[in-house]
Amino acid sequence: MEWETVIGLEIHAQLATRSKIFSGAATVYGAEANVQACAVDLGLPGVLPVLNAKVVEMAIRFGLAVNAEIPSRSVFARKNYFYPDLPKGYQISQYEHPIVSKGRIDIKLEDGSTKTIGITRAHLEEDAGKSVHEGFGNFTGIDLNRAGTPLIEIVSEPDMRSAKEAVAYMKKIHSIVRYLEICDGNMQEGSFRCDANVSIRPKGQKEFGTRSELKNLNSFKFVELAINHEVERQIDILESGGKVIQETRLYDPNKNETRSMRSKEEANDYRYFPDPDLLPVEIDKETIERIRSTLPELPDAKKQRFMDEYRLSEYDSEILTANKDMAAYFEKAIQSADGEAKLCANWIMGDLSAVLNRENRDIMESPVTPEMLGGLILRIKDNTISSKIAKEIFEAMWDGEGDAGTIIEKKGLRQVTDAGAIEKLVDEVIVESPAQVEQYQNSTPEKQGKLIGYFVGQIMKKSQGKANPEQVNELLINKLKTD
Ligand code: ADP
Ligand code: MG
Repeated sequence: MEWETVIGLEIHAQLATRSKIFSGAATVYGAEANVQACAVDLGLPGVLPVLNAKVVEMAIRFGLAVNAEIPSRSVFARKNYFYPDLPKGYQISQYEHPIVSKGRIDIKLEDGSTKTIGITRAHLEEDAGKSVHEGFGNFTGIDLNRAGTPLIEIVSEPDMRSAKEAVAYMKKIHSIVRYLEICDGNMQEGSFRCDANVSIRPKGQKEFGTRSELKNLNSFKFVELAINHEVERQIDILESGGKVIQETRLYDPNKNETRSMRSKEEANDYRYFPDPDLLPVEIDKETIERIRSTLPELPDAKKQRFMDEYRLSEYDSEILTANKDMAAYFEKAIQSADGEAKLCANWIMGDLSAVLNRENRDIMESPVTPEMLGGLILRIKDNTISSKIAKEIFEAMWDGEGDAGTIIEKKGLRQVTDAGAIEKLVDEVIVESPAQVEQYQNSTPEKQGKLIGYFVGQIMKKSQGKANPEQVNELLINKLKTD
């Protein structure tokens, strides 16, 4: 039996406001427990929520960026449940009338094709507090700093058909909220997190299978692992004659498995009703148009521009524009590199990304500035240094030894392009390697192509990597010719 996977994601993104959605308390991450929860966040008697206008504006920005409808009226509702980190006994959310409805985005699949994923809705809500289980013995601590932090919950259509597609979709939404500057996207701090709804069905069947909802997925890697694991689990159940039950499952990254949290029967009845403390939000056309006019260039448009303006491949453009900071770094580097777009792209996607990953740093904190990288690329282009030496210089720039010019002079790394000097080295090596010369001269041209590497290697060694490789090659071939 061939199975098809069906996935829908619910993404929670924390909106990057300074104060909370319904109170003036600060939202900064990492403060001492319970110093950032005011009377409104605690739900003390007699207090009233006041909607933060910034939050509404950010949600509209998101809606416009994903080609969604912005209804003229949206309504806050109370979602009632009991939990220690929810002092009011209800969460203020939106239910029947969300602020954003019916959007869509395009994602790029591995085979290079494009797929459109529907966005059912996006609604505003407040975050809950946090239970803290470490350091309290048999007790649980409650930290209410996060209570009342604004969230936008983005609900997708069940349009994804593999874990890879789900990750591509999540990355695209991540990229968009960062471009819009409405969310810092920090997954370790929980500012951007996701629940995945997963079901399977026999290939060709129209009806969806029963889904489970996976919670606690706070990295792209975990989303992929958890979905793949869940698909295997559901296939095992169905193939051994069982039935998947609708339930919420918690992903455990340490064990790479999911376990049941609650089934549909145990699910809460949230008794949603419109919050009587808050007026409906009414948004007129002018407001929408005003906000639309402030939207930045978004990833898809930037990608197309990189292809047109810099003649980069779609692949390179996609990678460079996925992260807005990387795109900005690239455009600055080009200015210092006399328009050498392809070289800039290669260095950013190659050596720079590799060290950033290795040292777990953000491109904005790179000790090699775009101007410095541009300067290095200019020196490659004007033949002052070889690409190989450039890697050494890049490492030195990263270590704070100065810009490319300074390092080249200090370490004497200038490439040798003086024909006379190179010829001298070539002659030396030929004299020192009679056996190799004989072998070369008695070989077929194809074989010679391989043997030449030995001589090049010896010469580069003698020149400490500084001889211009093209010149070395050309001279060698001439000198080794027998006719
Ligand atoms: P709930 O409010 O109970 O979470 P929703 O109907 O709002 O349920 O759906 C939540 C998410 O589940 C959406 O992203 C939707 O696309 C997805 N979904 C719904 N049915 C399925 C299914 N059979 N398989 C996979 N995902 C599903
Ligand atoms: Mg849900």
